[in-house]
Amino acid sequence: MQSIYDLSLAELTTYFLEHGDKKFYAEQLFMWLYQKKITAIDQATNLKKETRERLQQEFLFSTIRIVQVEEDKEVRKYLFSLQDKEHIEAVLMYHDYGLSLCISSQVGCNMGCAFCESGRRKKVRNLTTGEMVEQILQVEAHCKDRISHVVVMGIGEPFDNYDNVCRMIEIINHPKGLAIGARHITISTCGIVPKIKAFMDFPYQVNLAISLHAPTDELREKIMPINKVYPLETLMPVLKEYTQKTHRRLTFEYILLAGVNDQVEHADALAALLKGMNAYVNLIPYNETENLQFKRSNAIQIAKFYDILKKNKVCVTIRREFGGKISAACGQLRSKKEEV
Ligand code: SAH
Repeated sequence: MQSIYDLSLAELTTYFLEHGDKKFYAEQLFMWLYQKKITAIDQATNLKKETRERLQQEFLFSTIRIVQVEEDKEVRKYLFSLQDKEHIEAVLMYHDYGLSLCISSQVGCNMGCAFCESGRRKKVRNLTTGEMVEQILQVEAHCKDRISHVVVMGIGEPFDNYDNVCRMIEIINHPKGLAIGARHITISTCGIVPKIKAFMDFPYQVNLAISLHAPTDELREKIMPINKVYPLETLMPVLKEYTQKTHRRLTFEYILLAGVNDQVEHADALAALLKGMNAYVNLIPYNETENLQFKRSNAIQIAKFYDILKKNKVCVTIRREFGGKISAACGQLRSKKEEV
């Protein structure tokens, strides 16, 4: 059975029209769900009783449940259980500009990046639109505050679940939905080229982040198998076209892995690769995980890498760290849960 949180406003409108209800019911229900944040359909008091009863029979409401919360200074990690008993996670970060939630897009992941905990378990299934939307609603209810920013950087590859992710954006961005500004929403991908092309026509000014992590094909394909399918010579021209066409913000994520991709030669090659592109680089200190051998670069190496990019006029920041102590790196909490 479908969840009520799976439907965009346009789809709800069609649903009501098909059932002989008034068109404006869709907007009313949307506002009940996303602004008044009701938890049961009978709370939507201005809908007809028969309509409420039918909705109750035809749709699920809450389908995910918080089962564990870990907390550190400015970060909270949520573990959810799904209807089929799978687990996913979301990470809430307290920034000075507001609350940002990192959500999951799949159960498991097929991308197989060597350094990433999430990929240790192959994809079981895509998350539904509703399961993504509900991560936001449930965390808001738990922390009793408004989430102003959403990043799709949790477990999974969002562009391997393209349609549901796009519908989720439509719902959370809608002024009658959660009204989260498009510029406050970021999708992160390992570089699935056909979907980056499709995303050019997606009519929302959301941010795109590319997990680059290496400046050459030789190195990138060693740590990210996707590079064998879409090497840099395919990926980079599409990204150039993407920024020219959409004028949206494009960020490159670059995890610094000690001795692997953090040397002077890598910084030089990265600066050369990005030359002339209107892009930002986010250097990410690696969150070490027990199950994988990679080590975090030391602070001196990180600073050196940063300086080289700066000198080459690349816009670069070092990601502020959240959640190292509470296994907040992608997939770590779920891994722990499933190994006990
Ligand atoms: N599949 C998407 C989104 C999920 S991963 C993608 O590849 O972008 C989100 C980001 O976290 C990616 O940049 C990923 O490479 C990074 N990441 C994974 N494991 C990490 C770790 N242990 N420490 C720091 N960043 C990590």
